[in-house]
Amino acid sequence: MIYLDSNATSHVDPRVLEVMLPFLTTRFANPSSSYTAGKVVRHALENAREHVAKLIGATTAEVHFTSGGTEALNAVLASAAHTCPGTRLIIGATEHPAVVEPAKRWLRHGGTLSIAPVDHEGRILLDKLEHLLAARDVSLVAIMWANNETGVISPMREVTELAHAAGARVLCDAVQAVGKLPLSVQDIPVDYLALSGHKFHGPKGTGALYVSARSRFEPWILGGGQESGLRSGTENVAGIAGLGEAARLMTEALANGSEAALAEVRDTFETAVLSACPQASVNGSTAHRLPTTTSIRFPGLVAAEMLILLDQRGVCCSAGSACHASAVHPSPTLEAMGLSAQDASSTLRFSFSRFNSREEALAAATHVVHVENKLRALADEAAGPVVITH
Ligand code: PLP
Repeated sequence: MIYLDSNATSHVDPRVLEVMLPFLTTRFANPSSSYTAGKVVRHALENAREHVAKLIGATTAEVHFTSGGTEALNAVLASAAHTCPGTRLIIGATEHPAVVEPAKRWLRHGGTLSIAPVDHEGRILLDKLEHLLAARDVSLVAIMWANNETGVISPMREVTELAHAAGARVLCDAVQAVGKLPLSVQDIPVDYLALSGHKFHGPKGTGALYVSARSRFEPWILGGGQESGLRSGTENVAGIAGLGEAARLMTEALANGSEAALAEVRDTFETAVLSACPQASVNGSTAHRLPTTTSIRFPGLVAAEMLILLDQRGVCCSAGSACHASAVHPSPTLEAMGLSAQDASSTLRFSFSRFNSREEALAAATHVVHVENKLRALADEAAGPVVITH
């Protein structure tokens, strides 16, 4: 299998698994217990917090463990709805459903919602955002650091400056960016930031919410008061230990130039595909993009069909659109960038990690080119989309 879907989820690093195992076997005590066995586990939690804080340039007091990115994002929107009822929320046009769905609830509960549009490269239009902020009733601006489908990186510094100048707080979905790019909340002072362990070789069901020391946060999950009262519930210790180790490894990798190494593998693949498929092109900004991601459009072909043939050849990637049972909905991200529904449905996303070698990237490109040529020949013959039966 050639796994090119790391934006969906990534391999758990064997070193991460090793750190986790004792907390599923011998070190099973509750970290809130006051005896020594509990204190040992508490120490591991705090150690993990230090690693996560270091990765994003936060203090440990600002990092709160959650069950993942979705929970962290929902928690901030719920908090804002509670503390600033009836105000305006601005979200980017290419946000993940983990922001879009709670934003719809914000609207149902009496708030106002505005969508900040993006240009054809997928980047937030800052003048349009500034215009929306001029309404002066905005309490929160939610913009993602990097997009999950295209890898396009937002101008977070400018977004944050504009929002703060208008008196609004900034929530940043950094689920796809953390671990892949050097980023720091000291350098770009967003107020809230969500990250997720399984996107950078940690375990699924782990994540963290950064709440800046200057920002207000009303907890969503109440109970025993864990995580300084901001997120109750007995901690997922093994998962958190794994998240911490994954964060430590990412800090180390970024310091050793992992960004350039990742981009080289992705670019090897991209160049091989584009040079052999003259009709194909990359969606979104290539200048402002994660080093791991390429979203390639194959005009005239149907991504869902390419996926089936690639799967048969052992290549795992995903469509630029979400497939629900028999219906294929074009990706809202690609549509927001101005792609037609047809172009959006002819897009595949390939996302790499450090577990992909250059050789693997070239082998995957050969499979993609083969499938593209085959389907294009059939499509040309039939002068329309091909129906695969098997
Ligand atoms: N935000 C983005 C941009 C994502 O890509 C994802 C996951 O795909 C999430 C949020 C949700 O994160 P989690 O799977 O940890 O809940």
